[in-house]
Amino acid sequence: MVAKKAKIVIVGAGIAGLTAAYRLYAISHDLFDLTVFEAGDRIGGRILTTVFSGDRIEMGATWIHGIGGSPVHAIATDQNLLEESSCNWERMDGFPSGPLTIAEGGFTVNQDHLARPISSLYRRLMDDARTGDAKSADGHPGVGAYLRQGLLQYQATRTASTNTGLEDDTWSLEALEESLFAMEECTERTCTSADDLSDLNLSAESEYREFPGDHITISKGYSRIIEHLTSALPPGTIHLGKKLCLIKWCSGDGASPERSPPVRLHFSDDSVVDADHVIVTVSLGVLKAGIMKEDGKGIKFDPALPDFKREAIGRLGFGVVDKLFMEMETESREAFPFMRLAFRQGLEENGSMRHASKIPWWIRKTESICPIYRESHVLLAWFAGKEAMHLESLDDEEIISGVHATLEGFLPSIKTGCRIASVKRSRWGTDPSFLGSYSYVSVASSIEDLDLMAEPLPRGKGLEVPRLQILFAGEATHRTHYSTTHGAYYSGIREADRLLRFYNVGN
Ligand SMILES: Cc1cc2nc3c(=O)[nH]c(=O)nc-3n(C[C@H](O)[C@H](O)[C@H](O)COP(=O)(O)OP(=O)(O)OC[C@H]3O[C@@H](n4cnc5c(N)ncnc54)[C@H](O)[C@@H]3O)c2cc1C
Repeated sequence: MVAKKAKIVIVGAGIAGLTAAYRLYAISHDLFDLTVFEAGDRIGGRILTTVFSGDRIEMGATWIHGIGGSPVHAIATDQNLLEESSCNWERMDGFPSGPLTIAEGGFTVNQDHLARPISSLYRRLMDDARTGDAKSADGHPGVGAYLRQGLLQYQATRTASTNTGLEDDTWSLEALEESLFAMEECTERTCTSADDLSDLNLSAESEYREFPGDHITISKGYSRIIEHLTSALPPGTIHLGKKLCLIKWCSGDGASPERSPPVRLHFSDDSVVDADHVIVTVSLGVLKAGIMKEDGKGIKFDPALPDFKREAIGRLGFGVVDKLFMEMETESREAFPFMRLAFRQGLEENGSMRHASKIPWWIRKTESICPIYRESHVLLAWFAGKEAMHLESLDDEEIISGVHATLEGFLPSIKTGCRIASVKRSRWGTDPSFLGSYSYVSVASSIEDLDLMAEPLPRGKGLEVPRLQILFAGEATHRTHYSTTHGAYYSGIREADRLLRFYNVGN
């Protein structure tokens, strides 16, 4: 008699789900009945490479963050994805350097005496936070208050250089330092996805790990990592357009009937699939929607998720980060600088500007506008939080006119001719398959919540072997590499290995 294969379902065809599938299949071959269900009409999730105005761009994951030891870098190298490509690609010349820092109104900020000292101050403060040497401000647990305290201390003790190059009399030295510091904070918002840095947990910063070495982009496109993972799976493993709505499981505490197999999955097309194990890899945003809202978004659980899981999902932060690509009009295609933007910080309580400005509010927390490589006529700006959500709601014309107002507000004396012909932006915040971009540890949560995210259900009692009905993978389940592709990758390996150990397969 042939034993029935255990049925393993993976929900989500992002890097976590596909890594789990790849690992399970590579080690067990066809020992399991393995299926991946994906709500969208494509694989890759928050990895999405496309082409805009002839250049290869990334709508989501962009960088391999440190090449020393990164599993994503290892795949990219093995698969020759880092070799020269016939198509020009985003940041093919590495991190942009030699910024031109401009203050609102069109005044070029002196790099040596103003921009660089504030950048160095900022870096030193964040380095201290990462090494655990940071002292919170008045006991406030957030990064925001700590940074502001650092700026005030700096301003109280620095001797103002006599050579600041501050020839614009509408700016005071303090106001300019404030704007330059805010510009650095805007980068932190996009790096972490925290809309408000006072919600970013200062003590958790020291637990976050980065790989050493260069940060690079993938010449053949990030999506090729995804293609590599799927190429090894048997045809028919991945099913697109299958949105999971409800997971019924057997909690073992009398709250649900026992069933065999124990997990029942209900999809939006009314189909039902039974499984022995399900690995849920959907974003933290989708999990939050499932526990918090009754609007049909997200995934429901029956019985409901236990308190420890619901609370971790609720506490952890999950913000919105979007990218806006802008194609310059043919007539205005001169080399565009890597332009860092020091906005005036004069917003009144009600949001109106103290001074007249046509620059819309949603662009005022953008750190820079930069060509995607030195000679490109495609410019890029990053958005986070409320500004990103608003950007998602605008039509292209409104975006273009806001960008023109900004360029006019910053470059009157340097470059008046740059016009934008078309734009392309991501919409991670409103896309129901993501409902945000990546996770962060908020002040309400702690690094332990990431471990709770990773715990399978039901929890084993005493010495009982956990039954592994519902397993969780995805970037928001990795304690030290959350928010990244490699964190998601590691989580897929972790959950595949958990099942392989359960069945005593492999090493
Ligand atoms: C703008 C942006 C820039 C980024 N930059 C970087 C970077 O430079 N470097 C880096 O390392 N990381 C970066 N990231 C983060 C990185 O993209 C993610 O951490 C990683 O891709 C997450 O992978 P995942 O498999 O955990 O989740 P996902 O990619 O979200 O995969 C989950 C899958 O589940 C599917 N799904 C959702 N709901 C359902 C449902 N109900 N039923 C079935 N399927 C469902 C989704 O469609 C999705 O395909 C960036 C992300 C964004 C948005």
